[in-house]
Amino acid sequence: MSDKQPVLELIDLSVGYQTSSGLVNAVNDVNLTVYSEEIVGLVGESGSGKSTMAYAIMRLLKGDALITKGTIRVMGQDVYAMSVKELRQFRWDRMAMVFQSAMSALNPVMTVETQIIDTLLAHRPNMNRNQAIHRANELLDIVRIDRKALQSYPHELSGGMRQRVVIAIAIALNPGFVIMDEPTTALDVVVQRSILDQIREIQRQEKFAVLFISHDFSLVAEMASKVAIMYAGRIVEMTDSQTLTVGQTHHPYTEGLLHAIPHLTADKVVIEGIPGSPPNLVNLPTGCAFHPRCPKVMPICKTARPTQIAIENGVVECHLFTADKEVQHV
Ligand code: SF4
Repeated sequence: MSDKQPVLELIDLSVGYQTSSGLVNAVNDVNLTVYSEEIVGLVGESGSGKSTMAYAIMRLLKGDALITKGTIRVMGQDVYAMSVKELRQFRWDRMAMVFQSAMSALNPVMTVETQIIDTLLAHRPNMNRNQAIHRANELLDIVRIDRKALQSYPHELSGGMRQRVVIAIAIALNPGFVIMDEPTTALDVVVQRSILDQIREIQRQEKFAVLFISHDFSLVAEMASKVAIMYAGRIVEMTDSQTLTVGQTHHPYTEGLLHAIPHLTADKVVIEGIPGSPPNLVNLPTGCAFHPRCPKVMPICKTARPTQIAIENGVVECHLFTADKEVQHV
């Protein structure tokens, strides 16, 4: 039996936005568990609910966004049952997040050193300034940036260095769980590759669990051991990445994503994208939200929403599957 403990548990989670057209759910009935030291990937097109889910986990939802249903537990603790004081202590200490844009995540008028030290001292009352400086140097070594960068302001660093600083701050207090929300999206492919390799190395070394969010299917399959595919706020398939890399998909949307990845060494073929656009959450299609774009659509798909069923190594939400059995495409 595995001794891995759940560090993130999402139970029937729905997150909505109050709009002039009423309540619009961006995340619907999501169930997801991330275990200690595991990297779980979350993939989907823009607007599929990935970032809303991440902000809900960190309890950073703003304005008209609210949890409409469900529970979020991190390290066994209900994130929404904590007082503001408890939450302030819990964030960065137990769970942290690497945001999409390093430039907006960092304070432009503070040096890197001040930003790292402030985080450390705010959470470690017994730590003195010298110990914090020592830890800041250590963190820069971990993310492989020259220690001289501690005296720099964010605008003096390259995009890759800024992202490494954000990762250093996220892991400063040895959290058990880190959300990485498109951590390399704004970077060129060479820097992206080097940062991803480093994230994997640091994760193995520091032994934290990761929810790795990206719209890049191939990247997620490479980074994560388990991959959840989101469409219109729902997890439509979840499986282990090994199954995906050998092309064994179940949901037609997952299949479409996989076919849209170009292969560098294979014969030249025309890449087929998924037709149409992601649905408008204010006015979701009836039945299965993917039906207007699905090449395998059946009459039932237009009227009834499929329920999630167990498959080998995961779950799928599609009428093609009923109780572990693939039905005929009609
Ligand atoms: Fe396609 Fe129907 Fe499955 Fe939806 S439920 S993905 S429309 S086959």
